[in-house]
Amino acid sequence: MRKLLKLGMVYCAGSGTWSFYNNFLCRTPPNPMIHEQKHKKIVVVGAGIVGLSTAYYLSQHPENEVILIDKSERCAQECSTQNGCLVMRYNSVPWTYKPLMGVLRGIWRSDTSQAIYLTKAMQEPGMVKFFWYWLWQNRDVLSTNMMKLNDLQEILLDKLLVDANIDPKSINYEKDSVFYHLGKLQGIDLPKAFEKLAKALPPVPDGAIQDVIFGNQEMSERVFNKFPKFEGLKKYHYAVINPYYTLNTQIFCQKLDSFLKENRPNVKVLYQHELEYFIFDDAEKHLVRGVKVRGKKEVINCDAVVLCAGSFIARLLRENFRLICPVIPVKGYTMDIPTDLPNQKTHLGFRDIAFVATYLEPGYLRIAAFGDLSGQDKSFDPRRVRFLKNTLIERLDKKEVHQYKNLNTCLRPVPPDDAPLIGGLRFYPNVFLNAGHAGRGTTIGLATSKLLSEEIMQGKATSLPDTKPFSPSRFFL
Ligand SMILES: Cc1cc2nc3c(=O)[nH]c(=O)nc-3n(C[C@H](O)[C@H](O)[C@H](O)COP(=O)(O)OP(=O)(O)OC[C@H]3O[C@@H](n4cnc5c(N)ncnc54)[C@H](O)[C@@H]3O)c2cc1C
Repeated sequence: MRKLLKLGMVYCAGSGTWSFYNNFLCRTPPNPMIHEQKHKKIVVVGAGIVGLSTAYYLSQHPENEVILIDKSERCAQECSTQNGCLVMRYNSVPWTYKPLMGVLRGIWRSDTSQAIYLTKAMQEPGMVKFFWYWLWQNRDVLSTNMMKLNDLQEILLDKLLVDANIDPKSINYEKDSVFYHLGKLQGIDLPKAFEKLAKALPPVPDGAIQDVIFGNQEMSERVFNKFPKFEGLKKYHYAVINPYYTLNTQIFCQKLDSFLKENRPNVKVLYQHELEYFIFDDAEKHLVRGVKVRGKKEVINCDAVVLCAGSFIARLLRENFRLICPVIPVKGYTMDIPTDLPNQKTHLGFRDIAFVATYLEPGYLRIAAFGDLSGQDKSFDPRRVRFLKNTLIERLDKKEVHQYKNLNTCLRPVPPDDAPLIGGLRFYPNVFLNAGHAGRGTTIGLATSKLLSEEIMQGKATSLPDTKPFSPSRFFL
């Protein structure tokens, strides 16, 4: 036993020294100054909303040659395929914030907002690192930095739609809707419980818009009366209200994909091309000179690579660079429920069970639910599906819920602080990350892509004064 303890201590001291050396003492290799190179050939990996918009901004410079590759047959087949489609314009509460006891409950219960499948979850490279970072970062604060990304995204999206000639209606881009996040209060004295809650709500940062309503009368006027069929809503006591927009992420991706193929001669889009590994420079081992595609003989040579691989990012970094990246796949379930409710430009969220009901198109509600930790496993857990349906039946219209269609699961790429990773790797300076968009890819994907393309083109992002909070170096990457 003593020997084991000694061995353990020696191991901890050794790995601690090694990690300290790597993170703080080891000098980074010379930067290739990619922005000074006139003609750049850049491979973008991943054609979700983030990869497509990265290709869009990089190809605005005609001297660039951009090659967008994706392992799927078409664009947006992973997380961008069927999400909640909400642009959380005036909100920046970290999605990762969770009370610790609530998280632990998910290990043994399937009727919670976050179920944890320990053996599958622990296989993810960043899981242990994630846990410590998460404990460190786990605060219910609205982030001013994230609000700046929201602001930038709005300007960019409006510009892109004009440039790419995309009709906002065709992508359900609706800028005048609101989101009611409904909550319950505990105890007999509800006004007192509400007073306590109001005091505990985090302050709203500059630029954010938030209203809170409480009490039967106000809730009836602003929520219940709009949804007379949804009897279950009456169990909720208060609502936090933000203006949210809708944007059908998958259709937007398809339109952007067509635009790139038809209007940008300097972009090549290659589907069924899975990045297998990187080819390094013979002399300067820290520089990537190309990518090898699985099942194909040829190598795609390049000057830089941008990884927009969503929830696959941690595995790519571990397998190719032996880096531990704390971006964790968090599984969500989505489904569409036909409804005869008229569009009232009102979307609902349920604080007790972490799901949203987006009125996306006339005639149906898009449900996006849960945040399960199950590694890369995207399969349907029948207990979770049953729980989801029962939860919906309790809150919405039973008949309509039974007619649900398009049941789907996808994996959110979630970093512990809920802020994306934008920028180059410290020890591999021509490999860039644009990843970790968590539950906000539709809300901030264009903004992060613009910032990254500025870094590649000018050596520094200029659309925001400070992009340090988003640098991958905060995780020693
Ligand atoms: C249930 C749910 C609801 C959500 N609701 C919202 C919402 O309302 N609003 C919002 O803003 N966000 C929402 N999100 C989050 C949003 O969907 C994601 O943040 C966004 O889709 C991430 O986009 P991405 O391009 O980074 O990743 P993805 O869309 O996953 O794209 C990554 C791409 O990389 C490709 N790839 C991976 N590895 C390789 C490889 N080795 N070689 C080649 N290609 C590779 C994949 O095929 C994939 O196409 C939701 C997510 C979920 C799960």
